[in-house]
Formats: sequence, C-alpha cells, structure tokens
Amino acid sequence: MTNPLREALATGQFCYVVELVASALTREARLLEAASGLARISAVVAGSVTSYAGGAMGHDPLRVAAAARARGLTPNIHLTCVSQDRLGLAKSLDDMHALSLENVFALTGDYPGAGDQPPVFDLDSVQLVRLIDERRRGGIPFHVAVAVSPFKYTEADCVYQYVKLEKKIAAGADVAVTQVGWDARKFAELRRYLDDRGLRTPLLGNVYVLGPKTAERMATGRPPGCWVSPELLAAVRAESRAQDGGRQARLERAARTVAVLRGLGYAGAYIGGTHDAAQIAWIIRRAEELAENWENLAAELGYGAAGGFYLPVRKPSMGAGAAPEQRGAELLPRVLEWLGRAFPVNRDTWTRRALTRVFAWIDRRRPATALLERLELAIKKPLFGCQACGNCVLGHLEYVCPQTCPKQLRNGPCGGTDQGRCEVIPDKPCIWIAVYDRAKVGNALDGLKVYVPPPDRRLRDTSSWINYFLDRDSRPAAERP
Ligand code: SF4
Repeated sequence: MTNPLREALATGQFCYVVELVASALTREARLLEAASGLARISAVVAGSVTSYAGGAMGHDPLRVAAAARARGLTPNIHLTCVSQDRLGLAKSLDDMHALSLENVFALTGDYPGAGDQPPVFDLDSVQLVRLIDERRRGGIPFHVAVAVSPFKYTEADCVYQYVKLEKKIAAGADVAVTQVGWDARKFAELRRYLDDRGLRTPLLGNVYVLGPKTAERMATGRPPGCWVSPELLAAVRAESRAQDGGRQARLERAARTVAVLRGLGYAGAYIGGTHDAAQIAWIIRRAEELAENWENLAAELGYGAAGGFYLPVRKPSMGAGAAPEQRGAELLPRVLEWLGRAFPVNRDTWTRRALTRVFAWIDRRRPATALLERLELAIKKPLFGCQACGNCVLGHLEYVCPQTCPKQLRNGPCGGTDQGRCEVIPDKPCIWIAVYDRAKVGNALDGLKVYVPPPDRRLRDTSSWINYFLDRDSRPAAERP
C-alpha cells in the first residue's frame, strides 16, 4: 500500500495535510464526505484525524481513519498520551497496524476539560515517539509526525520547545508540524534552528483558516497553545464585516501563509479550520500564484507578541539573551550538583559501592526501609514537591520534580504554555521554566537534551534512593554505572 505523505516528504514535493476534526459535534457522515472531496485533490497527501481537539473526546479515530482511507484519503492519526497508559497506547498502535494504518501523529494532548478523576499521563510525547520507534524497529512501518510550537514569546518557553523537538527527532520523529500561529519570523526561526544543527527533518507549517469566532477564542489562549494577537483579532473582526462574513479574506490569508512556508523551505502546509475541498483547492491554487512574492508576504505576516522573544540570527549556543538573575533559591541545585561532582555515584566509585552496601542492608529490613521511605519524603517533599514516584530524576531536571507538572511530563514542556504560565493551572508558572532558567545559570543547557524514560510506576511510594543504588529504577541510560 502506498503512503503519499511519506512519499511526498521523501521526494521533497510540497504537500498538504488537512485536519479532519472528528469531534462529537461533527456527524461522521459529514466528515467522510469531506474526506472524499479531499481525496480528489492530488496535492493533499493526508487527512489528519483528530478526535481529541481541545481536551474532549470525539469519534473513534481509527474507525474514522479507516473509513477515510476507504474513500481514497490517506489518514494521519492523532495519538495522544491522555488517559491511556503505555499498554493502552501500545494496543492502539497494534490496532493501527492491524488496519494497515501507518501515519501517526504523536502528541501529549490537551488536559481534559472535565472528569472526576485526574487524567492518566503515563507517557509524554517523546516517550511515545520512542514506543512507536521500538515497534518500527520490530518491522512495523509507522511514519511519525510530532508537534512543535515556535510561537512562544519568552526565551525559556521558546527554546525548550526547540530542545524538545530535538529530543523527538532523536527518538524517531519523521516530520514536525507546527502549532497554530501567524508570525513568519517564527516560522523562519524554527527552520533555521534545525538547519543550524544539521537537522533536515521536514516541517509542515500550520495554516489555520481563521474565522471571527475562533479568533475571539484563540485571543484568550484557548485551545491551549493557540494564540491570536490583538492586531490579528482586530484584522479578523474588520474582515468579518464584509458581505461574505470575511470568508475571502481568511482564505487569502491562508494562501499567503502557504506561499511564505514554501519560500522558507517548509515541506508542506497543514491546513486546519476548514476541510471544505473547494476552499482547500482554492488555497492551493492561489498559493501557487503568490509563490514568487513570498518575501513581501512574509514581511506582512507579523502577528507576533509585541516585545516577544526571538532567537538571535547568529548561531546560538541554544539559549540566548542575558542569563536569568541568580536567585538565593537557586543555591540548592548548585550545592547538590557540587556534591554530586565531589562524591560521584553515577559510576563505579568507592562512594557508590559503600552506599550500595548500606541501601542493600536497609532493603533487607522492612522496618528500616519504611523508616527510610518516610525520611526521604520528609526531606524531598518540602524541598522539591516530591510525590514519591520511586524513580528520582531530580538530578537531570535541575532539581525540579516532574511529578509536579500536571501532565507529569519528563522531557520538557507541553505546547500549552502561555507566556511561561501552565496550561492547566494558569496562575502558576510552567515547571519547565525553572528547569530552563537553572540550566542556563549553570551553563548546563545541553543536559536538557538527555532523554528521560518513563517512570516504573510499580515503584511508587518506595525509596528512590534504594531503587537507585540497587538499580531498580527507570532513569536516563547514561546514569547506569
Ligand atoms: S507544567 Fe508546563 S508542561 Fe506541565 S502541564 Fe503545565 S504547561 Fe504543560
């Protein structure tokens, strides 16, 4: 079976992927009608089936995907880490394989909007890419798309997005799709970031056909990670007063954005906001007419945040700008790091051998183990917000506990951060901002690229010190002596 998405990216043919939102609000029959229409446009190489837009469950994506394929449209299936543990995700991949569905869009996913129980986030998107890659090594030809948001306007938010993309690429991502945004400098920045590092991973730029209702919503930062600037909102409002309600103006903006993406060396466009085949065909035709003028159009596509962060054009050493102010609270990670260097335990040293003997002795005595577990938590909870996951990776994350992230991510922030604030608890900073700031102060930004595996959840409420020295825990590979 051919895979037009894989082939277009391999041959460098500029291509289009159109988002099919399989939300509960859209009738499945209508979606499939749209799929049939899109299948007739040769430049459209896939329909991206999302059933989890904005944190609410929709139709079964595999059923919609299989039905779309039967109508001639190759599906690209969104697989999120929300409310599925690693076994559930592995099962979804097996089901995809059984249906000969190759294209998977690996995402962390939005935090669910409703529910009595906190949702399960067993894996993060980097770990999910690894899981898919393991299956691929076993002979299943998955093609993996991942998300990245260049539209972040503080340094930590922005650079960490790029670092996380590097981790996804190292884990096996084949193509990266940007988040929604209307800022050509950011589109260019992302391509340049990868080029500067010799990463030729193809990029699909998100081209959202923006109507007034969605613009109003995105102006408030909803859905998470999508943001419309006040200037763009004003432009969309003005356009919507036209006789056609602003329809022509929004299609024109979409076509211009496509032309800019082509000029910047993107591999294709990921179109959202419409799956109307006639509109998509118009955008494609118009973008071709505009292609030569892309530099002027790029200069006009400037709806970023006023005074927002952009990576300097010079080859960066990852971070940029002034180092964050050294604060007293940052002393602890530095002291712990110094201790780690003075008395190394991550390789075969006398300190490690001695401590291993001590912890093995404690481990054989249940009362002593229970006492140690209580002691460890009593120290680490007030200092780091420790939640006794039993697989401590504080030393890899600048002494910020990943369990304090509402999505329990271990490899960097999700795409939902808003000016450094958390997607789930907006009055709190995203925990990864502190990780970045501390790493920058400590000149340790490269350490952020280390892959952190998922925790072994069977070790919950046990002593991570014992687990570490007895080699039971899950931690970055380089840490194994
Ligand atoms: S702490 Fe950061 S990564 Fe975690 S859910 Fe909030 S915004 Fe996302």
